[in-house]
Amino acid sequence: MKRHIQQITVLAFLSAFIFGCNSLVSKESINKENLNQKQPNIIFIMSDDHAKNAISIYGSRLAEIAPTPNIDRIANEGILMNNVFVTNSICTPSRAAILTGQYSQLNGVYTLKDDFDNSSNHLGKLMQKAGYSTAVVGKWHLHTEPTGFDYYNVLPGQGLYNNPKLKEIGKPWKYHNRGGEVYKGYVTDVITDESIKWLENRDMSKPFFLMSHHKAPHGLWEFAKRHEHLFTDEEIPEPNSLYENGNHGPLKGERYGSSISDRNLRRNMLHQVTREGWPTGIIDTLGMTKSEKIHKAYQKYAKDYLRTVAAIDENVGRILDYLDDNDLAENTIVIYTSDQGQLLGEHDYFDKRWMYEESLSMPMVIRYPAKINPKQVNNDMVLNIDFAPTLLEFAGAKVPSKMQGRSFKSNLLGSTPPDWRTSMYYRYWMHMAHHYIPGHYGIRTKDYKLIFFYGLPLNQNGALSEITEPYWEFYDLKNDPKEMNNLYADEKYQYIIKELKAELLVKKLKLKDTDESYPELMEIRNKFWN
Ligand code: CA
Repeated sequence: MKRHIQQITVLAFLSAFIFGCNSLVSKESINKENLNQKQPNIIFIMSDDHAKNAISIYGSRLAEIAPTPNIDRIANEGILMNNVFVTNSICTPSRAAILTGQYSQLNGVYTLKDDFDNSSNHLGKLMQKAGYSTAVVGKWHLHTEPTGFDYYNVLPGQGLYNNPKLKEIGKPWKYHNRGGEVYKGYVTDVITDESIKWLENRDMSKPFFLMSHHKAPHGLWEFAKRHEHLFTDEEIPEPNSLYENGNHGPLKGERYGSSISDRNLRRNMLHQVTREGWPTGIIDTLGMTKSEKIHKAYQKYAKDYLRTVAAIDENVGRILDYLDDNDLAENTIVIYTSDQGQLLGEHDYFDKRWMYEESLSMPMVIRYPAKINPKQVNNDMVLNIDFAPTLLEFAGAKVPSKMQGRSFKSNLLGSTPPDWRTSMYYRYWMHMAHHYIPGHYGIRTKDYKLIFFYGLPLNQNGALSEITEPYWEFYDLKNDPKEMNNLYADEKYQYIIKELKAELLVKKLKLKDTDESYPELMEIRNKFWN
């Protein structure tokens, strides 16, 4: 018995020694890590519907006429991201995906009409837990009250361009597009003023995480008075495809797909009157041919849109100046992005929603002088669901396993993991709502894109009941980057298409978006999926 006790004592002593040493070592290394890796501050600036083509560093046809020097500066002093994609190209769902790191089918926000579940454990809350002081200012558009932010001051619904209302924390929350108090001025300036005001008054004992979300350049495009003179005597370069949709689309005709050639849409663009009744210009098209009218509508659309972008760029400059003036630049991650892309006349379209490149692509530039070298370019395939895991990893926080995205911190630091994704899954659920774009999903790899337009409402909030013809599209992005030629029926590509279909189904299974719970969709699939 005595011997046994002795053995236990020896064992206890040994294990105390071993584990004690271990805990000493790990404690030391943690302290060292904390010293070397102070949590960075993070400013996440996101605009609404800002196309890559309207940011000059991306080098599009608009780069020369509409430069964005301040957004470009972020990339020049950090990283230009070339292949960032949205998982569902529309405001509310993209914002929910960014906060939750999940696709619509997991976070429950499929369409513009769905409420965000603010009890979920999203990015704001996780940053708070990681020791950050958190705030969101500007466009929110998630219907329910912001949670996980020490401070919020957000637009009701879409908000106004001039003298906008904002809903501040601490006052009774009014649902979605209701409530708020008037702030004098132009919305992009006001959102920056309020963002800077929060930075000035923040809890200085903690690192900060600020989401500063602009309303611009979302339509209707009401620019600041100071930008009225921009482009007046200039011609905005047109995309080659302005006068033709291209060989695609399950639905032919002007009514479909946010066409500038649609008579009603064009008339709205030409005769735009702001919500506050301020006409931004009325163009008389009497006696013009259809092409002349499209030309006029595009010019007006592009000019108004780019004028709202000019104010965003100036205000990005104000944030960068604030960081410089307060010695915060070095240890602050600055991100500029948009909730999704926007078609600027390509395929004769405006708006987003489609899986086509201009709508699928998100602009993204990132600066973090302490860790990221200037003038970097990254071509890895990154998705909006990756933003939350990445910021959490930079903050030193654990990424919840429920998040479907993956951190691209290591990619930003110059080392892309060997098993990084080579394809992405996309889905637009809000069948036929607003601009008559059918529900569709698809897969994009580096070189190819396959889209299945299933054409069903599937009981989605806001979707129209009209059923459209199922349709497949396939693009060879290497040879046809503008996606003008649907090669789905081309013999040469049948093997690749078959492989992509198989990969698409594997992705759907992995991402928990199988079609089995929709018998009407399975019926369509059985007929049109060979
Ligand atoms: Ca948007």
